[in-house]
Amino acid sequence: MHDMHKERVLSLEDLRFVRITCRHCNTRVTLDLNTKTGVFAPPFPPPNHQTFPPEECPVCHEKFDSAVSNLGGLHQLYGKLIPLKGIIGFHGEPVDEDTPGASSKADS
Ligand SMILES: [Zn+2]
Repeated sequence: MHDMHKERVLSLEDLRFVRITCRHCNTRVTLDLNTKTGVFAPPFPPPNHQTFPPEECPVCHEKFDSAVSNLGGLHQLYGKLIPLKGIIGFHGEPVDEDTPGASSKADS
């Protein structure tokens, strides 16, 4: 087994878009957490007809799982945290502060 360790760090910006897949018709809808109005990618109707997150699939109108509504809280939280986007990072493992280069920024 090749034991290559590659740490993956996600910034807030990496978490901007959330995808929901409809269990009924497999339509995939993408929500943008970095908007105040809740503008969604097509096939959603105009944002003034929407709640964040939507309660139902825009194609077949099947209700999403009720737990999907928790994305509303995430949306609000994201708006509060995004000003810290250069400061906060998400890691899958504890970060070793003593590792040389651990504080290096991700180049892109
Ligand atoms: Zn659907």
